[in-house]
Amino acid sequence: MGNDLKKTSKFYAIIKGKCPQCRRGDIFTGNIYGFNIQRTNYSCSHCNQRFEIEPGYFYAAMYVSYAMNMIEMISMGFATYYLSGGRLDFDSLWLYVGVIFLGSLLLSPLNYRYSRIILLHWLSPKIKYNPIFDKP
Ligand SMILES: [Zn+2]
Repeated sequence: MGNDLKKTSKFYAIIKGKCPQCRRGDIFTGNIYGFNIQRTNYSCSHCNQRFEIEPGYFYAAMYVSYAMNMIEMISMGFATYYLSGGRLDFDSLWLYVGVIFLGSLLLSPLNYRYSRIILLHWLSPKIKYNPIFDKP
């Protein structure tokens, strides 16, 4: 028989920072670039899934965030190279340092958020999507 409950897509859940189990509750408080410092909720308000499933679990997110940072810095380096018309002399060193430093600073809230989302959605075999919880 057809299932007429609308399921939340994984893509939506990842973009919006939703709980990996029910795809409805928020993982974080506040907005990504809001005035309040964003925090990770202790557990899902919708299905009670704990996000930090064991103490220190989010240390693993540091590796994800490190990989994201490397990709971003390399991309910014290339972008600076092309946008500055291929300058690679010693004087343009500070241009690269400035762009990469500022860029990383601006992207850090995004890295914080998405490293944890990637960890919870893709790298946590203990947390699985469960359609039973994916309803109002
Ligand atoms: Zn949930």
